[in-house]
Amino acid sequence: MANLEFHQFPCLDDNYGVLVHDPATGTTASIDAPEADAVREALAAKGWRLTHILVTHHHHDHTAGIAELKAETRCTVLGPAKEAERIVGLDRGVGEGESFALGSAQVHVIETPGHTAGHVAYWIPGQATVFVGDTLFAMGCGRVFEGTYEIMWSSLSKLKRLPAATRIYCGHEYTAQNGRFCRDIEPGNAAIEARVAEVAALRAAGRPTLPTRLDRELETNVFLRTRSPEIRARLGLGTAEDWQVFAALRERKNKA
Ligand code: ZN
Ligand code: FE
Repeated sequence: MANLEFHQFPCLDDNYGVLVHDPATGTTASIDAPEADAVREALAAKGWRLTHILVTHHHHDHTAGIAELKAETRCTVLGPAKEAERIVGLDRGVGEGESFALGSAQVHVIETPGHTAGHVAYWIPGQATVFVGDTLFAMGCGRVFEGTYEIMWSSLSKLKRLPAATRIYCGHEYTAQNGRFCRDIEPGNAAIEARVAEVAALRAAGRPTLPTRLDRELETNVFLRTRSPEIRARLGLGTAEDWQVFAALRERKNKA
């Protein structure tokens, strides 16, 4: 299969936009649309014409640019069917198990509720890449606004089962704060310690810490490490279910 090109760019305060381009067909998708200006500038910089917007969830910082971009480009807007009434400009609602063509690539929809009730991730297995919106972050995860901890844990578990070499694009640059939390929770994890230093260097140089990769997250993201004896001991949850360990971590992080 032809290779897609990916272009990530910062927007708003700490969001990322991503453009996905298929050189074979000229198809270009924006993953979410945090703000029209930043997406427009990114398109101009690459010389690409917008054909699709793939929306992960209804929050304003992921949808604010849709109306303007759609009016300008007549692009097709796909997003979670379960949030259809909350996403203005949605052309096609998608859900679990569906897949669709994006140029010469095939995109698979994974429902990842919890941050919002209808949140979806877009997985492109042929490119070993997934767009997870605000479900998973580098060394962190989204806040659970519209679901239970059990539901969010089940969503994270779906992402955990993707191939380990999967590249992960996330909605926000939160890695430095997340890393400090992970280090406090699992100080004996040398991989976290090393990554925190690396992230500090990247940020000091004004560079993004994303995309990340699933294997790195499995090593350093405490929200995916509910089996860690050190984490369980710290939380006093030696024999709890994984989702309960996750819930305790998420509650601690909410107060951090
Ligand atoms: Zn959000
Ligand atoms: Fe967000």
